[in-house]
Amino acid sequence: MNNNPLSRALFNDVMVPNYNPQPIIPVRGEGSRIWDQDGREYVDVTGGIAVNVLGHCHPALVDALKNQADNLWHLSNVFTNEPALKLARQLTEATFAERVFFCNSGGEANEAAFKLVRKYAFDHYGEHKNEIISFRQSFHGRTLFTVSVGGQPKYRQGFEPVPAGITHAEYNNLDSLKALISDNTCAVVLEPIQGEGGVIPADPEFLKGVRELCDQHNALLVFDEVQTGVGRTGHLFAYMDTPMVPDILTSAKALGGGFPIGAMLTTSKIADSLGIGTHGSTYGGNPLACAVAGAVLDQVNRPDVLEGVLRKRALFEEGLAQINARHHIFKEIRGKGLLIGAELVDAWHGKAGEFLAAARGEGVLVLVAGPDVLRMAPALNIPEDEIRQAMARLDAAIEKKLSE
Ligand code: PLP
Repeated sequence: MNNNPLSRALFNDVMVPNYNPQPIIPVRGEGSRIWDQDGREYVDVTGGIAVNVLGHCHPALVDALKNQADNLWHLSNVFTNEPALKLARQLTEATFAERVFFCNSGGEANEAAFKLVRKYAFDHYGEHKNEIISFRQSFHGRTLFTVSVGGQPKYRQGFEPVPAGITHAEYNNLDSLKALISDNTCAVVLEPIQGEGGVIPADPEFLKGVRELCDQHNALLVFDEVQTGVGRTGHLFAYMDTPMVPDILTSAKALGGGFPIGAMLTTSKIADSLGIGTHGSTYGGNPLACAVAGAVLDQVNRPDVLEGVLRKRALFEEGLAQINARHHIFKEIRGKGLLIGAELVDAWHGKAGEFLAAARGEGVLVLVAGPDVLRMAPALNIPEDEIRQAMARLDAAIEKKLSE
């Protein structure tokens, strides 16, 4: 037996090396703070990559999980269950959608969406209409279909052959989409804000144009809201702050507030193409995940919480502007609500990971979005004094890094 301590070093001994985790191991979280094995405390503005939407161990989510755990854990889709029905009702009442498919992650929600757009086109127009267009730099998950639709070739290199019939247009460039779209296009897929691609919001005019092009060519419009959904932008879903409505929306991450769940939302007409037996997931819609997600929606879909997101963003922007006035380190602050990207000036391009490490050293946990952008996706309920503290620690980290 391997009796080595549960340390970062053990990771390399026992885990597949597809991740390179930070040297600390967090053991406890409360709100927007976490503590590592040595009792060191950190302000967490990563939110578990836009997942812990209510922070760590929110009492309402802990209660929902414990109550459900005492009643019913799992059934399979041979039965439906009350938490799943309740959650589907919440989601359909709160959005354009009339039907919901549950799964366990963002990648799976997108996989379902990509299968559905092909099946819908097959059912209504025929086999020739099978092409999917997405955008360069986009990210939609790590399954073979989702890395293929995703616009970052590095994630599919070495895994070929990948599914065919997928092309990539330039984001925020309608002409680029016009050049690719045709009556063979079954769907256009986009993130309302490209998250992993560098926190790049879609222009409202571009979105309007995408919707029009989809309608002209009878193509479905899929919004991947895995990162932007469930309050992150100050709206329950980001499409609600745009001039258009998608045909299919995918959600995961914040939907479970830290408990794994994904969902694909659509209209009843489109949903009909996933008839009995066409798609499925053993765990999808399991009572534990749905009970927690139901509690997340109860907590997040409230005017005070959603309005608070915009106020909190202003505080982050203020803090980042102050840091920039002192260190001239950021080229641009981007994103919406509490999805914040701070692109480093050209001289520091490629070094975002070094600033992440420096920030950790000063007790604040941030993310990167590619090699040039620092990203923050904190809990929506992060207290204002913790935002100020996070910014003060980031300022100290940057000062230290620049004086190396
Ligand atoms: N789509 C978007 C926009 C994402 O940001 C992510 C994850 O970062 C995914 C899909 C994949 O989600 P998951 O890792 O839960 O499969």
